[in-house]
Amino acid sequence: MTETKTDVIAGVPRQLFINGQWTAAADGRDFGVENPATGTELCRIADGGAADSARAVEAAVAAQATWARTPPRVRGEILRRAHELMVERTDDLALLMTLEMGKPLAEARGEVAYAAEFFRWFSEEAVRIDGGMTTTPDGRNRIMVMRQPVGPCMLITPWNFPLAMGTRKIGPAVAAGCTMVLKPAPQTPLSSLALAALLQEAVLPDGVLNVVTTTRAGEVVEPALRGGSIRKLSFTGSTAVGRLLLSQCSDTVIRTSMELGGNAPFIVFEDADLDAAVDGATTAKMRNMGEACTAANRLYVHRSVADEFAERLASRMAALTVGPGTSEGVQVGPLIDAAAKQKVTALVEDAVAKGAKVVAAGTAPQDAGHFYPPTVLSQVSGDSDMLTTEIFGPVAPVIAFDDEDEVIRLANDTDWGLVGYVYTRDVDRALDVSERLEVGMVGLNTGLVSNPAAPFGGVKQSGLGREGGRVGIEEFLEYKYIATPVRDRPAS
Ligand code: NAP
Repeated sequence: MTETKTDVIAGVPRQLFINGQWTAAADGRDFGVENPATGTELCRIADGGAADSARAVEAAVAAQATWARTPPRVRGEILRRAHELMVERTDDLALLMTLEMGKPLAEARGEVAYAAEFFRWFSEEAVRIDGGMTTTPDGRNRIMVMRQPVGPCMLITPWNFPLAMGTRKIGPAVAAGCTMVLKPAPQTPLSSLALAALLQEAVLPDGVLNVVTTTRAGEVVEPALRGGSIRKLSFTGSTAVGRLLLSQCSDTVIRTSMELGGNAPFIVFEDADLDAAVDGATTAKMRNMGEACTAANRLYVHRSVADEFAERLASRMAALTVGPGTSEGVQVGPLIDAAAKQKVTALVEDAVAKGAKVVAAGTAPQDAGHFYPPTVLSQVSGDSDMLTTEIFGPVAPVIAFDDEDEVIRLANDTDWGLVGYVYTRDVDRALDVSERLEVGMVGLNTGLVSNPAAPFGGVKQSGLGREGGRVGIEEFLEYKYIATPVRDRPAS
């Protein structure tokens, strides 16, 4: 049953979750969580520091050996129960997420379903961790290969998908038999605390998951990475922070998964189904108010259809209702904070100063919330900052191109390589362009690629490793090879 806003906030623990206990920060500090639609404080929660991080790591290390020996079926059943609890509580979890993050309730419900699905997917993967046995080519030795959990993990998540970025890491870590410390983003810690409470209810043993909410990321994370007990870092966030964390991991040679930023090209060829392309662009641009690593950042449209595409996309985007995510009928919520709004504003001003035309701009409430109107720009000059920066807002720059080689060159001319979108009805072109794009994922005639059953991740500076799919659990497993001689060895 859906509770009220006040009930939902009141129902969330406000403390750190360490070794199965809810506890205040050692130094008693706390911090406020803001509602981006109103700029008001929702509640205050524990602000963990270095001492709390040390306790959380200690708990994860202490729980590791027993957890690694827990039968895979038991680990899978915990995840399955957690999936069921999430689905049962969709409305409350969605409301909580909307309050702290801003996305419209309908999108928040979609994220709960998506996030819960990672638990179901990895509950099924827990019992399929394989190994193998073979003999060496000369027949003299056996090669036995087994898989073991990598060990205690540090998980760091961003604010834009507060539940899904958590379950996409916790799911495979639990399935693989790893213990973990989760540090969520300070803008959206409540979803992670609610998730921890739910996993506790699903009978996850003490110490397997520890959550340290904090505004002092460096104090919490760096000593843990340098301490020698954490064996794996799984990070989702910006490329700049990812780079810093990679360097911190190098001293103790920690395994890393890095899900970093993107600068997605969205390519519409002259033979594309323009209705489908406009639909796809609206999804790829406007999902999560444009605050997605997969957001279409540069829309390259063949010159023969560029004006028509820009007009049609503009009328779709400008018609969207912007407002508080909790209000009926709202399709676009606020940006996460004042800095995010300022960044988008500056990027649009820069593009317009360099010659871009505003095809249409929607309207947005002018109150304390961090709202930005959906905006389509055309004739965007190649030196505009928004073509080399993640816009992370509801702004679509349309750039006309003339031929396939040119658009591939433009699309690949970036340090990022997370996802690219291609709209064409020509099968040969579709496959050829998909192969030539330097990205980890391609949306071919679709504006949405995320799926728990698919390997999500990027190339170049968009990251290392994949989350989800069959490979998602691999990131949390080591190979162990055992060599033993065959008893009656053939003569060499
Ligand atoms: P961010 O600033 O990099 O922060 C991500 C997380 O890292 C937050 O929890 C943050 O906490 C923490 N962090 C920052 N500095 C740290 C440090 N020195 N040591 C340890 N942790 C630190 O990114 P964001 O603004 O939250 O998220 C947006 C970015 O995430 C975008 O670039 C987006 O593309 C990317 N993203 C990628 C994917 C993907 O799957 N590839 C998915 C979603 C988002 P603090 O805020 O307290 O510093």
